[in-house]
Amino acid sequence: MMTTLDSPPLGLLLADIVRGHRPRTEAGSVPANIPHLQSPPFDRFGIAVATTSGEVFRSGDADLPFSIQSISKVFTLAMALSADDSGSLWSRVLREPSGTSFNSLVQLEVEHGIPRNPFINSGALVVTDHLMERSPDAAAQVLRFLTGQVGQPGPFIDEIAARSELSSSSRNLALAHFLKEFGNLRRPAQAVVENYVRQCSIMMTCVEVAKAGLFLAQDGRGAQGAVISRSEAKRIGSIMLTCGMYDAAGEFAYRVGLPGKSGVGGGILAIVPGECAICVWSPRLDSKGNSLAGTAALADLSDRTGWSIF
Ligand code: GLN
Repeated sequence: MMTTLDSPPLGLLLADIVRGHRPRTEAGSVPANIPHLQSPPFDRFGIAVATTSGEVFRSGDADLPFSIQSISKVFTLAMALSADDSGSLWSRVLREPSGTSFNSLVQLEVEHGIPRNPFINSGALVVTDHLMERSPDAAAQVLRFLTGQVGQPGPFIDEIAARSELSSSSRNLALAHFLKEFGNLRRPAQAVVENYVRQCSIMMTCVEVAKAGLFLAQDGRGAQGAVISRSEAKRIGSIMLTCGMYDAAGEFAYRVGLPGKSGVGGGILAIVPGECAICVWSPRLDSKGNSLAGTAALADLSDRTGWSIF
């Protein structure tokens, strides 16, 4: 595992990152519409690094399960692209940064039901709809995929949390109905949103997310062989860099210099191609829905290790 010469060994460095970035005061926010995301204490902070040489380093609350939320969108995209029929997906969703919030309705209407990218909610709904062609229980497919990559049982769908989020999902339902109206959703809007919310409600630890994301750092090769081709891994990394943090993608690229994907559960998956996958989790969010302490920690880690694609 390569780090710059003046940085300490990775285990010590991660412990230092936890000391420096675990929140001491209650800054930031939690999503008002998702009740269960309000429960983790503000000072939770975990980080894990899974390396391409097969090691896993962890520190802080790296073994506590959290709600992966939109980190799931990276995995559903990879699953959709790994299918033989993947060509048709790119006629239904673009690959451009949106510059708008992840659940914005305005752009979708102006652009006639074609979402800007697969990582905003409308785009992720299209990807979930696409996966439902294979099996109607897309969330179960995602769970199976993640468990396979982690290599042992661990990830689970928090069905109670999913039900509670579903009862306040008017906005996601509105997006799904817009998509349907424009002919860009094959399954019923309600069924797609249900699957989408259940995939977002998967609980995983930092260690598990880092292990599950490792295929993106090693040319598409995961725990059970090739998930996607090397070119697809490059492309997903590019979409993470330009769209993974929504309307803060530019700021994240500036500060961290790595492809990343956040979720409103406070997790972020970041990829160092050829080296490792990193997952950091701290529940309090900035105004764009990205982990406040998690982003700061990744900026610090990339500065101290030299890990960056630039
Ligand atoms: N389930 C959340 C939503 O649809 C996911 C959003 C996110 O993590 N950015 O609003």
